[in-house]
Amino acid sequence: MPIIVSMNPMLYTALDGKRYAVSGQHWVEVPMNTTLEGIDKYMVKLASETNDTKGKQNWKVEGSKGNKYTVSLIESQWSCTCVGYGWRSKCKHIQYVKDNIYNVGANGS
Ligand SMILES: [Zn+2]
Repeated sequence: MPIIVSMNPMLYTALDGKRYAVSGQHWVEVPMNTTLEGIDKYMVKLASETNDTKGKQNWKVEGSKGNKYTVSLIESQWSCTCVGYGWRSKCKHIQYVKDNIYNVGANGS
């Protein structure tokens, strides 16, 4: 299980020859051949809540009939370009993004 950190992890080789994944105060010893591409086995950066709410996030979701919709999260407000959202202010596309993309990693196994 990787640990969750709030800053981009870096690789560091210490004087004793050991290699570490480093992010802020977090240090994890990793194998010597670890690269930045493989660092996510040991450390994963989690975007902070403040960054999420400041910015606008978009996801493309394909509907059951092949139509493409854009689900947006803007300052904690979800919206979708589909007709159903226009009627009910909620839809399965938003639910899909919440269930399968947005929350993944928050309570993974
Ligand atoms: Zn929708």
